Amino acid sequence: MNTDIIRQTDKEVADLLDLELKRQQTTIELIASENFTSKAVMQAAGSVLTNKYAEGKPYKRFYNGCKNADKIEELAQQRAKKLFNAEHANVQPHSGAQANMAVFLYAVKPGDTVMGMDLSNGGHLSHGSPVNFSGLYFNIVSYGVDSNGEIDYENVRELALKHRPKLIICGASNYSKIIDFKKFKEIADETGALLLADIAHIAALVAAGEHPSPFPYADFVTTTTHKTLRGPRGGIIMCKEKHAQGIDKAVFPGTQGGPLEHIIAAKAVALKEALSDEFKLYAKQVVLNAKALAKSLMDEGLDIVGNGTDNHLMTLDLRKLNKTGKDIANILEVVGITANKNTVPNDPQSPFVTSGVRLGSPAVTTRGFKEEDMVEVGKIIAEAVKISDTQDSEKLKELRARSLKLCEKYPLYKD
Ligand SMILES: *Cc1c(COP(=O)(O)O)cnc(C)c1O
Repeated sequence: MNTDIIRQTDKEVADLLDLELKRQQTTIELIASENFTSKAVMQAAGSVLTNKYAEGKPYKRFYNGCKNADKIEELAQQRAKKLFNAEHANVQPHSGAQANMAVFLYAVKPGDTVMGMDLSNGGHLSHGSPVNFSGLYFNIVSYGVDSNGEIDYENVRELALKHRPKLIICGASNYSKIIDFKKFKEIADETGALLLADIAHIAALVAAGEHPSPFPYADFVTTTTHKTLRGPRGGIIMCKEKHAQGIDKAVFPGTQGGPLEHIIAAKAVALKEALSDEFKLYAKQVVLNAKALAKSLMDEGLDIVGNGTDNHLMTLDLRKLNKTGKDIANILEVVGITANKNTVPNDPQSPFVTSGVRLGSPAVTTRGFKEEDMVEVGKIIAEAVKISDTQDSEKLKELRARSLKLCEKYPLYKD
């Protein structure tokens, strides 16, 4: 967190980094895809390995001088396999979207049919959005959720039988129910498709046994390392041994150049943390905290898509109140709560406005928040929603003071 060395040569950047630290310390982070890494993860990400080129796989590189990078990448691979009980792990993808791109390159050809969850129903851009490579180069069939916010598996099966996709993707960026990986596998087998489970959001819950694992079922599992998993920004692909060589080639040289070995070192550190008993407690608390927040919001009379959550996130449904996700996310920022606007199922508003706000518990759980704190967070949100039209400045000040008090109860990155 110390920016002294940067400050010697670049005051502008040092000042902004200091301000960002302060922002993170003094606001309640409810963006479901964010988290706070350990200082050990940050030190690895800022380490000398940023200087190293290491194209290729450990012990089979195109550059010399890789002996330390080889061992570190091998550690990251071994830890990923152990954590998720996977046959093979490639820890080089620069991000979750890059991990998915490599799976596409290996598993399908341009023009092939791919099934994924629709973006506005909770899927991810890289699952076939028309503005993403996945939607541009492949024939996408999308499935969505019902009005309860749940995947209709019979509908997924019917679509798969009708369109015969080569690849089915399950996993989402905004889905609050348990994903039935076994059912997806049955559908994939019945229709002759390969199955990709993208656990970018729920990785920590899967690792800790708080969500069923896709591993006995999926051909490929992709994840990010920076969301619930609490590592550096990056991705991982895991797969069955029979796909290992093809997946490795699809990552490099297929879609990437040199791996980010400093980030891979940080992934190794985060994966070791994730293998600890403390991490299991964190994952359990993430779910308890999300449930406590959902209950608090509903007790205050607000609607939650699907009337609750089974994982780490939920979506506030503002349709009944005639309010927009954009306005509410903005007023939450004023009172010291960071969240993002998000579409709800069948949203009448555009993705830039939306009728929902996505709320997640991972980052505040890392900070130390417990259920009672989530109840207070729910009350602050409910009051902010109530006054969003009048923007009563006294009330806004009071709510900001309450959010700050919670932040001060759980100091972040203090030595
Ligand atoms: C966040 C996310 C990704 C992409 O991760 P990036 O690191 O932002 O590229 C992919 N899939 C899902 C389901 C996600 O939620």
